[in-house]
Amino acid sequence: MPNATPSPALSILHEVFGYSAFRGHQAEIVDHVIAGGDALVLMPTGGGKSLCYQVPAIARHRAGQGVTVVVSPLIALMHDQVGALEEAGVHAAFLNSSLDSAGVQHVERELLSGRLVLLYAAPERITHPRFLAMLDSLHERGQLGLFAIDEAHCVSQWGHDFREEYLQLGVLAERFAGVPRLALTATADTHTRADIVERLSLQHAQAFVSSFDRPNIRYTIVEKDNARLQLLRWLRDEHVGDAGIVYCQSRKKVEETAEWLSAEGIPALPYHAGLEAEMRRRHQDRFLREEGLVMVATVAFGMGIDKPDVRFVAHLDLPKNIEGYYQETGRGGRDGEPADAWMAYGLADVVNQRRMIDESTAGDEFKHLQRGKLDALLALCESLDCRRVRLLQYFGEERPAGWRCMNCDNCLQPPARWDATEAARKALSCIYRCHQHSGFGFGSGHLIDVLRGQSTDKTRARGHEGLSTWGIGRDLSEPQWRGVIRQLIALGHVTTEGEYHTLALADSARAVLRGEVAIELREPREPTPRSRSRGKG
Ligand code: ADP
Ligand code: ZN
Repeated sequence: MPNATPSPALSILHEVFGYSAFRGHQAEIVDHVIAGGDALVLMPTGGGKSLCYQVPAIARHRAGQGVTVVVSPLIALMHDQVGALEEAGVHAAFLNSSLDSAGVQHVERELLSGRLVLLYAAPERITHPRFLAMLDSLHERGQLGLFAIDEAHCVSQWGHDFREEYLQLGVLAERFAGVPRLALTATADTHTRADIVERLSLQHAQAFVSSFDRPNIRYTIVEKDNARLQLLRWLRDEHVGDAGIVYCQSRKKVEETAEWLSAEGIPALPYHAGLEAEMRRRHQDRFLREEGLVMVATVAFGMGIDKPDVRFVAHLDLPKNIEGYYQETGRGGRDGEPADAWMAYGLADVVNQRRMIDESTAGDEFKHLQRGKLDALLALCESLDCRRVRLLQYFGEERPAGWRCMNCDNCLQPPARWDATEAARKALSCIYRCHQHSGFGFGSGHLIDVLRGQSTDKTRARGHEGLSTWGIGRDLSEPQWRGVIRQLIALGHVTTEGEYHTLALADSARAVLRGEVAIELREPREPTPRSRSRGKG
């Protein structure tokens, strides 16, 4: 049925933004919000969330329904968006710490006059009593058109970016009944989503969930042997002359890795929060402008970086959780061209991440959440099947059984598997026997020596050569044993304790010892002599 007059939303899209069509769920969301409905929008970064509230803001203002208040934690983003809107002839402003008191007064006058179409503000501004009183007066006059809560995952402790101030936003629902509210986020795991709904009282909101799949990103997770060398070889094989990001956990490792890559002929710059602001800016500018630079960085790098042609994102250390992994790898391939997400992962990563959680000063509930999230990430690392299926499952997206993406390591080169059930039982018995004999626990290195019957000063001194588990694992290589132990830790059957990372059995180990749990492992590739001689990993 031909329709001569485009909808008001579509005219706004054409006239104000110069775009020809809405993307994905945008049209549905915009219609729903213009009609006064609440909405929860889950859309990956770059999906076009801004238009979901900007178009309704303009439509509602034109219809005499007043101003849209946009809650955002990011000052830079407010500046960019307000600048772009004003450029397009839409009257917009922001309230944040960058304004002096005259600036604030000016914005407040504009707000109360009803001329303003969009007002961006940080959450703590909005929930300030004085500001709420101003909103009251607008509300009474029917001049409060819409609340848009950007980065809504900040309201959730489960999310990676919890902000106390976001909790106060719950007040908007009661105080401004009848004003539609729109929450937007690029973090969509089920826990975070439930938190957003509860804390922002969005039980009646319609949820619009876009796919989080990034089909052009190829996921690869390799077993750590000597991560730096593995990375270098991979870069030389796959990414000569490409721009990319290498994430490391510590500042020191960032600097060492950047220096080392440069010395190996790969132009690399360091970036972390400990560098001077001036240097950070310079490195960021160079990364954005020049071609083929590698940024070696901590997680401090990336928020709001929009470089379309990042061809790879590498992780030399395990990220904190799947959201982190998804966000960081998501910085690759924004232009839609093929990009790689590569990660090296090993036993030490598991032990370190576990320890960081245990030793943090956070409360028990928070630690419990963090452990749950780490476990989900470890399951992704250990998985023998499609990585994309796992990743999307975490964000609540199911694929049909047996579906394979054919663009991840496990799909492209299905790993050889071996049945490690018996080996797992041997490892657990050995952990148990050593502990029983000595009265305290031991680290993985020693346990592997005992399993393989490798005589050392320590095995002699501790009298472990007489144990019933001495040498019961001679049939397996050291990397295989490391895989078994890593898997047992990842699955939670073994816990690590104290500064020496000694291993102990968890309650669930009993079922494994009884042979009730089958354990399948990826066949480790034999380490190459070169990497072995350097002996790191
Ligand atoms: P997000 O906030 O979800 O990360 P943005 O709102 O910043 O994404 O949008 C990402 C980019 O996509 C922006 O450059 C935006 O102008 C563009 N964009 C969004 N929607 C459309 C559309 N319907 N047509 C063309 N470009 C769009
Ligand atoms: Zn796959």
